[in-house]
Amino acid sequence: MKLCQKCGSLLAPVKNGNKIEFFCHKCNKKQRIDKENIPKFTEKIDRAPQDEIPIIEKQTNILPITNEECPECGNNEARWWTQQTRSSDEPETRFYRCTKCAKTWREYS
Ligand SMILES: [Zn+2]
Ligand SMILES: [Zn+2]
Repeated sequence: MKLCQKCGSLLAPVKNGNKIEFFCHKCNKKQRIDKENIPKFTEKIDRAPQDEIPIIEKQTNILPITNEECPECGNNEARWWTQQTRSSDEPETRFYRCTKCAKTWREYS
């Protein structure tokens, strides 16, 4: 938060190219502000990486086994489960874990 040095009004940050300037609506003037007072305009990226596989906390030995080839060792049996990875309006993602080498991967639909 930065106040106008003349009238004490709250200054509004205005993006000007790569620079941030502050504008007082009362005085109708732009003001130069010291670097350390400039708020960051970087957008927060909160999305999880595409290939992230959530760690399952439930016991894997109760999960159903299906015939799925392990990309790691070629074993033909994998336990599977589904998990919601994104927003709730997206379908659940199916995950597999090899019964032999415990390699875990997700099904790409
Ligand atoms: Zn002012
Ligand atoms: Zn395997």
